[in-house]
Amino acid sequence: MSATILDGKALAQRVRARIADDVGRLKAEHDVTPGLAAVLVGEDPASQVYVGMKHRACEAAGMLSRQIELPADTSQEALETTVRELNDDEAIDGILVQLPLPDHLDPQPVQELIQPDKDVDALNPYTAGRLAVGDPTFFSCTPYGVLEILADAGVETAGAEVVIVGRSNLVGRPLSNMLTLKGRDATVTLAHSRTRDLAEVCRRADVLVAAVGSAGLVTADMVREGAVVIDVGTNRTEDGKLTGDVDFDAVAEVAGAITPVPGGVGPMTVTMLLQNTLEAARVRRGLPRR
Ligand code: NAP
Repeated sequence: MSATILDGKALAQRVRARIADDVGRLKAEHDVTPGLAAVLVGEDPASQVYVGMKHRACEAAGMLSRQIELPADTSQEALETTVRELNDDEAIDGILVQLPLPDHLDPQPVQELIQPDKDVDALNPYTAGRLAVGDPTFFSCTPYGVLEILADAGVETAGAEVVIVGRSNLVGRPLSNMLTLKGRDATVTLAHSRTRDLAEVCRRADVLVAAVGSAGLVTADMVREGAVVIDVGTNRTEDGKLTGDVDFDAVAEVAGAITPVPGGVGPMTVTMLLQNTLEAARVRRGLPRR
């Protein structure tokens, strides 16, 4: 293997330690404890695991973590009332509603209700719009984690050709908007299922990001020698193992650097949720973001 492994787990530990220090200082100097509320509707096992991880990470960083568990048959109105109450709750700086919601609930009006200064998951269209016009408030957590991994690895984005495969509002689209902000200055191609000759497009990339949800989609022939490869995908193999969108062993022979799955982007997603909650607590009290 020739590629450098970009260890997201180790980076997450370092960033979380720094966040915990910042939380300690915020408490000592301003008597402020950042608070995150996570709303979970129903009993989806994966969602329970994610919310549990977020809860433990929050507490480990010294933040207030409130878990609100609503039954699977919760009405749209009751869910929206819960969000309104959290908007009005001074102890809460960040609100997230764990997706997916049960089928009878519409996530869009719920996301739109989350007060923009508490929108730490950055899924309110207002938050996405602020980023799209180049004046961001919060960065959504997974793409924010990708930026941190690139920065930690010393990857220069200015002028770089970045190809992102996947155009979802959760990952690909916000990441393309972040990387083209003034100051980051990448040249971004946002590829998707209708992209013609995906392999050819990917070979242009100095930085290739896979965010599709298709195991082994990115093969070694799609990667330029020395490129940085970031694998956002999470897929389960038949024997239950977690795997990314990139054919890791073969691509690692060609790439200059690569994130593993697990242990790459995943640990950074929860970390950046903590970062956003800390930033929300500061900004809501008129303190500088960092
Ligand atoms: P999504 O909403 O399903 O979007 C998938 C995207 O991939 C779509 O834009 C789709 O194109 C594109 N696509 C599908 N098949 C393709 C193909 N054959 N060639 C090129 N593009 C193709 O998924 P998502 O929510 O963005 O998540 C993507 C992956 O990242 C999933 O595996 C998810 O589990 C993972 N993820 C991981 C984390 C983490 O923390 N590690 C966080 C979020 C997501 P169209 O738009 O044309 O349909």
